[in-house]
Amino acid sequence: MSVELKSAAELELMRQSGRINAQVRALLMEAIRPGVDGFELDRLAKAAIAERGAEPTFVGYAPGGKPPYPGAICYSVNEELVHGIPGERVLQEGDIVSVDLGVTYRGYVSDAAFTAAVGTTVAEADALMDATRRALWAGIEAARVGNRLGDVSSAIGAVAEGKYGIVRGYGGHGVGRKMHMEPHIPNHGRPGTGLRLMAGMVLALEPMFSIGGAETEETDDHWTVVMSDGSLSAHFEETVAITENGPEVLTRTD
Ligand code: MG
Repeated sequence: MSVELKSAAELELMRQSGRINAQVRALLMEAIRPGVDGFELDRLAKAAIAERGAEPTFVGYAPGGKPPYPGAICYSVNEELVHGIPGERVLQEGDIVSVDLGVTYRGYVSDAAFTAAVGTTVAEADALMDATRRALWAGIEAARVGNRLGDVSSAIGAVAEGKYGIVRGYGGHGVGRKMHMEPHIPNHGRPGTGLRLMAGMVLALEPMFSIGGAETEETDDHWTVVMSDGSLSAHFEETVAITENGPEVLTRTD
């Protein structure tokens, strides 16, 4: 496995890409309310990305013979886990929605996602979102020089242990000039195992937990991934650089 190390100049471009990503996500968060549909959020994202001189990474993405992805965002509601195509599904009071955003700026990709309540939701949905967010931050904390990839994976998985389903088929990834690069980062693992982390690695960490089982399936649109048992699921993601001074979240506004 070859994992790319970024130069200081590349990191600076990734920081700029990440800042745009965070600004656009903030606009999307503000726009989420009952009555809004995926088309509207996607249009907002496309306009906000273009205004900032960047490109929507996901548009036209077509790995492994899939139909080209049409959206700037992934829009996954309730039992939809990830990769939902933004369309006419209207958000209802009490839903939870995961929004994933890829931004390419001067050739460098930033990848981040959040799950948010639409209005007020049930306590168990809030607890699920809170645990998934905490798992992301536990993973970020472990993304340090000298640690191993298994330390990151196990830190993420430990937050769900015994309480939430940990989706196995999807996970984090290296990111840079392309969205999906080595290494793959499972959301569960054993401490002290796997790749040794080095300064200059940039990783997109993205825990995905569900209230029920961990099995998923793809729908007929070839993109949307849903929980097989229809349970609520949540997903949070940030793009993180490993530096000599600790983990640096690149997908933030300041
Ligand atoms: Mg990702």
